Amino acid sequence: MDSWNEPCQACGSAGQPLTKFSLGKDFFGRPYDRLSPLADQNPKWYCAPCSMHKNLQRDFRDIRTEFEKLRADQGSELSRGDEFRRASLRLQEIRTILSAPQQHSPFLNGHDVTLLMERLNTLTMPV
Ligand SMILES: [Zn+2]
Repeated sequence: MDSWNEPCQACGSAGQPLTKFSLGKDFFGRPYDRLSPLADQNPKWYCAPCSMHKNLQRDFRDIRTEFEKLRADQGSELSRGDEFRRASLRLQEIRTILSAPQQHSPFLNGHDVTLLMERLNTLTMPV
């Protein structure tokens, strides 16, 4: 397979160098469980902008999952003040990137990011 002639699996644009996307570690530095439903069983090939957006989506999902755990009073990475702050900053960063012109993400909706930020703000930051 010549990846130069294959279209990106997210946006479908062709003629660009593609990179294989693998999840690696999550936002909180934990390696992904290969058996987890989030792990890609079939690695996908994305162009550079789509790989970047895929990373944003991964961080967003990780943060949302931990937020749900925090709200449900289950053990959450966000119960640590520094991780909570880091996650808030990352969401701001993601929203800034998504609100820039020409930065339409094939994976992530800017509104969802804003919504999660608002929900996060209703919680008291852990100390
Ligand atoms: Zn693409």
